[in-house]
Amino acid sequence: MPHLDATHPVPDQHGVNLFATDPALQSLLPVYLAPALVSHLTPHLMRLGELAGGRLDELAHTADKHPPELQHRSRTGRDEQKVLKHPAYVEMERLAFGEYALAAISHRPDLFGWQGPMPATVKYVLTYLFVQAEFGLCCPVSMTDSLTRTLKKFGAPELVARYLPALTSLDMDELAQGAMFMTEQSAGSDIAATTTLARPDPAHPGAWLLEGDKWFCSNPDAALAMVLARVDGAPAGMKGVSLFLLPRDLENGSHNRYRIIRLKDKLGTRSMASGEIRLEGAQAWLVGEPGRGFAQMADMVNNSRLSNGVRAAGLMRRAVSEAFHIARQREAFGRKLIELPLMRRQLMKLLLPSEQARTMVFQTAEALRRADAGEAGAYSLARILTPLIKFRACRDARKVTGDAMEVRGGCGYIEEWSDPRLVRDAHLGSIWEGTSNIVALDVLRAARREQSLTALMTHLEKLLGETAMDDGLRTQLRDVMARAKALTEAALADGSEALARRAASALYHITTATAMAWESGRIGSPERLQLARLVLQHRLLPADPLAPDNDATAQAESIFLTA
Ligand SMILES: Cc1cc2nc3c(=O)[nH]c(=O)nc-3n(C[C@H](O)[C@H](O)[C@H](O)COP(=O)(O)OP(=O)(O)OC[C@H]3O[C@@H](n4cnc5c(N)ncnc54)[C@H](O)[C@@H]3O)c2cc1C
Repeated sequence: MPHLDATHPVPDQHGVNLFATDPALQSLLPVYLAPALVSHLTPHLMRLGELAGGRLDELAHTADKHPPELQHRSRTGRDEQKVLKHPAYVEMERLAFGEYALAAISHRPDLFGWQGPMPATVKYVLTYLFVQAEFGLCCPVSMTDSLTRTLKKFGAPELVARYLPALTSLDMDELAQGAMFMTEQSAGSDIAATTTLARPDPAHPGAWLLEGDKWFCSNPDAALAMVLARVDGAPAGMKGVSLFLLPRDLENGSHNRYRIIRLKDKLGTRSMASGEIRLEGAQAWLVGEPGRGFAQMADMVNNSRLSNGVRAAGLMRRAVSEAFHIARQREAFGRKLIELPLMRRQLMKLLLPSEQARTMVFQTAEALRRADAGEAGAYSLARILTPLIKFRACRDARKVTGDAMEVRGGCGYIEEWSDPRLVRDAHLGSIWEGTSNIVALDVLRAARREQSLTALMTHLEKLLGETAMDDGLRTQLRDVMARAKALTEAALADGSEALARRAASALYHITTATAMAWESGRIGSPERLQLARLVLQHRLLPADPLAPDNDATAQAESIFLTA
């Protein structure tokens, strides 16, 4: 039961169903998914929404307070490394991997009683709800899903046949979780500097032996990891880097030859283990072509980057729903907070980036579905939407979770509430899987190499063409599209990469504004059109910082900020 008590002066949203109380999510589902699938999934989403607002949130809180520990020896003195996870985390693993199949859903056509594969949107909507309670575990879930995708795409058929059943199992005793070990002390963003060495295994034809030190390894006790290493004697730089699949256990059942040196003491994602690993002649299998390691790993990284964007969107949604709940319940100066003009303005500032990210989740997931189905131009589109959502939504999540914390007042700073966890977790999104700078540069790379800027502009024109709106707004959107494109082209010129972040932000904002206007037409309600206008006004059009407001914000407040 929700712990809601309108008479208590300190409001608590715990126990609320995070799906049932999210009408915008419910209204967008039929825009992006077939109606029959939406009806089929609704009971599952209702249950996950209830869990995320209740039991899962409790588990996440407990797991955050009891981080995993590394055990090096058994009590009888055997050298047996083990990551000891709190039972709350183990229970969340069962929900994520087992009941909600978040890692398997893209690889199995037989889930949730639905015959046939689920579109990517379903996985991301489930993740969007799940992450509103627990962020840390979503990393191992996403790495397992991404590893499976990359293995299926590039791995030899016998490797795929050997590992696919365990990677996609819903049974926790059979499940093989995934990880990726790329980063080294001197090779993070700059993967070409990888020094881990791979040599043919003389005892096992076809196998390789890895030696080196991996500096950041989340989910370090995963059953399988994708590892980047340099084949002994291969050329320097990126061309010498290959991709390997590293099993935790060898065929004879013994542990593979690598050790977890220690676990990191992290600001956020404290529920989940991240470690340092030393490879000491560990047996591994080459995936795909030698020397194509980075290109192949990029597929896995892009999938993880998209998942990161989705997670940032979910964190923002949780922060916003908490802030709105407090504002509707809490009183100051004899009025509800939501009636106070200055608070209303702050709430709109939280809502707008959260809704932009939500639209971007749907747009990117749909582009990915079309790309995987082989539709012309869809790959180029997904290729640019992915770094765009990773770049901007992860940055926005830092600010939105921080500012939402303030809405709870002093309680927001207290570790009994969700706010500190959200703030700590949100800061990681902009760092791992590529820092903000690296991901903004990747937007330019997509434009340069994959014709992605053209694909994006074509897509936005199509959305505009499908949307009825007044001529003034249409002209504004078109003008801004042209300017965002020109800014990106300027950033692409030699020596101009310092513009990359501004270009990425501009493309993100015009994409969300146009798509929100389109969604508004599909849903048949003015709300998202109003948000599109706000994106234009506050993110894209020139503004005079000394001018009083025009109408758009006040109008939006009257729509979204009902008591
Ligand atoms: C909690 C946690 C878990 C992690 N888990 C994993 C994991 O499971 N597997 C894994 O492989 N890695 C993992 N990482 C590593 C993470 O992906 C890297 O830390 C990240 O990619 C940055 O690399 P780096 O730390 O070497 O920083 P650097 O690459 O040294 O970057 C330092 C700064 O320089 C900037 N910079 C670098 N190049 C450029 C450029 N060309 N232009 C402008 N600025 C630039 C960066 O933006 C950054 O601000 C994890 C990290 C953390 C914090």
